[in-house]
Amino acid sequence: MSYLCSKGHQVTLPHGSMNASAWCRTCKRQAREARWRMNPFFAGVYNGGPCYHIDATSRLERVARFNTDQCQRALRVDGLQKTVRTAIERRLRKIKEAA
Ligand SMILES: [Zn+2]
Repeated sequence: MSYLCSKGHQVTLPHGSMNASAWCRTCKRQAREARWRMNPFFAGVYNGGPCYHIDATSRLERVARFNTDQCQRALRVDGLQKTVRTAIERRLRKIKEAA
C-alpha cells in the first residue's frame, strides 16, 4: 500500500505508521540538499554526499557570478581564503555600485 506525503510524493509506510510526510525519502533528501546548497560554493552531489569548491581558483570563478545573498553567505564559510574574501567584498561593492 502506498501513500502520498504532503508534497505529493509516493511513500511506502512502515507497518502501523500513519504519517506519510514523516517517512517521505524524497522530502528528506530535498531538505538535506537545500541545506547543502546554503553554502554558495556547493558544487553538486556525488555518491550521495555534498561536494564543495574548496580551492581558491574555483571559488574565485564562482564569486564573479554571486549575487548579494550568495556573497553574504560565502563570507560565513569556514576556511575562506584571504584572496576569496577580498574578491567577495569587491563583488559586494560592485553590486552595490551597479544598483
Ligand atoms: Zn515528499
